[in-house]
Amino acid sequence: MKNFLAGCFTIAGLGLGAASTFAQDADSALVEQARLLSEPRSEASFIRQCTVEPARFPGLGEGVAAVPAKIFDNLYYVGRTDVGAWVIKTSDGLVLIDTLYTPEDAEQIVDGGLRQLGLDPADLKVVFVTHFHGDHAGGAPYFRGKGVRVMLSESDWSELGGAPDADSIAHDGQTIMVGETPFTVVLTPGHTPGAISLIFPVVENGVQHKAVIMELSPRGGIDVHRDAVAGIEHLGEITGREGVDVALHPHEMIFDPVARDFIMSASTRAAGSVNPLVIGKDSMQRFASMVGTCWKARIATMEAAQ
Ligand SMILES: [Zn+2]
Repeated sequence: MKNFLAGCFTIAGLGLGAASTFAQDADSALVEQARLLSEPRSEASFIRQCTVEPARFPGLGEGVAAVPAKIFDNLYYVGRTDVGAWVIKTSDGLVLIDTLYTPEDAEQIVDGGLRQLGLDPADLKVVFVTHFHGDHAGGAPYFRGKGVRVMLSESDWSELGGAPDADSIAHDGQTIMVGETPFTVVLTPGHTPGAISLIFPVVENGVQHKAVIMELSPRGGIDVHRDAVAGIEHLGEITGREGVDVALHPHEMIFDPVARDFIMSASTRAAGSVNPLVIGKDSMQRFASMVGTCWKARIATMEAAQ
């Protein structure tokens, strides 16, 4: 475990202070199992998920508008440097995932970014919000005000005053077709009770891949973590069945530095170069197993402390 701990403190940017408790304090076998599933690119996630009380996302709220970028043939980033917003182009208009902090963010960064990319904000058909927290849902009223359908899970809608109608509720296992593009909703509770992950196809140089935008980071005690473990195992099954090979997160600056660097500078990449967001089906499955194993280690730690 010495090497593991040494590694932790080299990632100073993660803000893991001495106060954080590492899950291996109680269950080194589970943490070791998770460490073996971890790959170099997922090391930051491994450290974060295998820590019982990780620091609040460092830098959250301190970001600025990112340079809007095309990151797949049909996927665009119109987010900030500290939290993401993605747009998928379909045969029947545009779909947005997450809305940033405020209506001003939505108007200036999302709509403004779309215009810079040559896309028309009036073509937005559906907005998915991964969960009700302000950094993801704060811009939603702007889109609702324009008549766009905004979708969250039922329980996260209840935190925002309730769903406006049945069509605005995203259900676990539901596939929503926008034009010819299917969006599969997977309930992944933990960060909030109704956090959702979304699976959809992306295309790179004519080759189709499957992407997931995952909401991770459970907040709460043992019961919340048990739900989160069930959720990530459920997501692992569905992403395995669907052949997901691209893993994205609303806060890439914490979870995958390679993805972050690519997303934040996608416009400078050479044509024909390999898209580093395609991690492969095996890495996706290893990632889901690693995260679930870390949360089991946290549960063991919390149980031992009772
Ligand atoms: Zn959140």
